[in-house]
Amino acid sequence: MKILVINAGSSSIKYQLLDMDTQKPLASGVVERIGEDMGTISHKAFPGTPEENKFSAEKPFPTHKEGMHEVVALLTDSEKGVIKDRSEISGIGHRIVHGGEYFFAPAVVDNDLIEKLRKTIPLAPLHNPGHIIGIEVALELFPGVKQVCVFDTAFHQTMEPKAYMYGVPYELYEETGLRRYGAHGTSHKYITDQAAKYFGKPKEECNFVTVHLGNGASLSAVKNGKCYDTSMGLTPLGGIIMGTRCGDIDPAIVGYIADQKGWDLQKIIDTLTHESGLKGICGSNDLRDIHKRREEGDERAQLAFDMATHRCRQFIGAYFFELGKVDAIIFTAGIGENDPLYRAAVLEGLENFGIKVDAEKNENWNRQPSAISTDDSAVKVLVIATNEELEIANETVAILNK
Ligand code: AMP
Repeated sequence: MKILVINAGSSSIKYQLLDMDTQKPLASGVVERIGEDMGTISHKAFPGTPEENKFSAEKPFPTHKEGMHEVVALLTDSEKGVIKDRSEISGIGHRIVHGGEYFFAPAVVDNDLIEKLRKTIPLAPLHNPGHIIGIEVALELFPGVKQVCVFDTAFHQTMEPKAYMYGVPYELYEETGLRRYGAHGTSHKYITDQAAKYFGKPKEECNFVTVHLGNGASLSAVKNGKCYDTSMGLTPLGGIIMGTRCGDIDPAIVGYIADQKGWDLQKIIDTLTHESGLKGICGSNDLRDIHKRREEGDERAQLAFDMATHRCRQFIGAYFFELGKVDAIIFTAGIGENDPLYRAAVLEGLENFGIKVDAEKNENWNRQPSAISTDDSAVKVLVIATNEELEIANETVAILNK
């Protein structure tokens, strides 16, 4: 069975075609700059294998429809293609950033779903309009193929009000939906399921702190396999310090910047979103670059690293108290999977809390879900590579099979 996973943005379409028998991608790529004078497509057949076949081209894609047509043309191309025709695609899984309070599980696309997605646009104005276009184009191009939406917020819908409400007038929640929704839920769920498998027990018996550290980053407290708390807020700007995002700050800072600098609201939000975090402190949001500069004695790079790891550690500490008992801390995503220095700094000196990182295992993690803690560490520390596309494809298959 083959599943096409689509993540449509306002001017882009990321895609991956997966073979569900092998659980591996057959092709993946991205169409960018849709709607501009000139667009691009980058496509890989059999990514990550010796047969990998890369292709990229520049051409205009006036709308998402032309972009999706190009994707289908490449997937079915007689030379570069990986399938004979589109009828080989059994289902389509759409990645949706925000499902508001409507969705706590993946759902089949129908008019009601699209209507609810439209209602959540104010909560994700940069993402959900693009997702809706992606769904509409896919419905047109693949008539009769079942389409499923998988929501990044769904995993966090099990939080209790005490965790998701903000201390602001209750009417704001009732009237505008203002609350914590979280993000990266597909990744937090995937590594929760993988970690439960690693322990060989049902996830309902597992408590984890899941640490998704990519350019965007969030942590979740997972109690009995369900999200109990998470670091991101109403939007993906909250929580820990990220590549270019500020994370949690004193809300009065917004008014202070406006007063001091005369900036309008949009400029302030843009700065907090794109020019802050690691980049705002030291000019770079890539840990590889930051480590190189730290080695050369760059104090700003050191400060950025110290601030980010300090904040991450704070959340882990908070979630330990919330959960009471923790089976494992699990790292994932670009930094979580590839940066032993970050992991070591976050968990340094916690032996009294039963957390002992094995320096050698941490340094030599081999990309398989495995522990980087010592054998006698009461709390295990795992690193598990996330795979959001596979999670979306698996969720889509589960719904197709119902
Ligand atoms: P993601 O958003 O999950 O793709 O993560 C991207 C981030 O991962 C980059 O901005 C880097 O900071 C970090 N990263 C990727 N590879 C490495 C590496 N080998 N060592 C340290 N950090 C890395």
